[in-house]
Amino acid sequence: MMTDIRSMNLSELTEYLTENGFEKFRAKQVLSWFRQDVSSFDEMTNLPARLRAFLKENAYLAKADIVRTRRSAIDDTVKYLFELYDGEYVEGVLMRYHHGLSVCISTQVGCKMGCTFCATGKSGFSRSLTASEMIAQIRSAETDAGERISNVVLMGMGEPFDNYDNVIRFLRLVSSEDSLNIGMRHITISTCGIVPRMREFADLQLQCGLSVSLHAPDDAARSRTMPINRRYPIDEVIAASKYYVKKTNRRIRHALSCKPHPGQQCDGSGVSEKLDQKAECLCQYPVRRRCQRHRTQNARL
Ligand code: SF4
Repeated sequence: MMTDIRSMNLSELTEYLTENGFEKFRAKQVLSWFRQDVSSFDEMTNLPARLRAFLKENAYLAKADIVRTRRSAIDDTVKYLFELYDGEYVEGVLMRYHHGLSVCISTQVGCKMGCTFCATGKSGFSRSLTASEMIAQIRSAETDAGERISNVVLMGMGEPFDNYDNVIRFLRLVSSEDSLNIGMRHITISTCGIVPRMREFADLQLQCGLSVSLHAPDDAARSRTMPINRRYPIDEVIAASKYYVKKTNRRIRHALSCKPHPGQQCDGSGVSEKLDQKAECLCQYPVRRRCQRHRTQNARL
């Protein structure tokens, strides 16, 4: 099996290379090439031929090549279709805010959660992404934009907490100086509410933003569109949200009712009462605007 070398941190890379008979300092050399976003081991010209040959034979460089780009006619939003090393595709969105560029990336090819309003949910599940493939999406968008991306949202295809270990690895890597050095406070994870993972994530106290997609103000309505609600109902999700706030002192966003049922008016009052002061219920914002944003981030290319 080929080794996903770009998902390694410095100590793992050092161990990998020394175990295979190469000098310790080679790890830093290889990492410096990752920072330059090379696409082949042949480009790592300061490595000896023996090491390049070893890497070509035993490892691969994860990629997320942009194969389709759609630029919005009304703002600076750009939608990408990325191709991964094995021919699978995922989507991403680049958005410009007053504080800089933000990119929404995918964490899985497809999704198991089956939300009825979501094209990804209907398309089934293929596989989870590695940490290096998440980073590759940011690098590709950054290269296309020609400037640094300062904020990242894990809100594209897939449920991040259904790919927990790779997402945690991604967070630790992307925030390190050896990688893109994007601080945890500039990264937001969006979840449909996998309660045990929310609590586990809270215990790590990583200081990431957390956004919870509720989409409906009560269990009956939520279960109709989000099967996960049958396993983790709203009260459990809110209790886990409060636990996250308590452990991290960060705010949580709760997205409500992007697509209300006919005749249903979502004012979020039922949920708002259950949230503590540090949590924010997005249903207090104009529904129309929120829906447009959701569509922008999730529409298929
Ligand atoms: S909304 Fe999110 S969690 Fe639900 S199916 Fe789509 S990608 Fe998966």
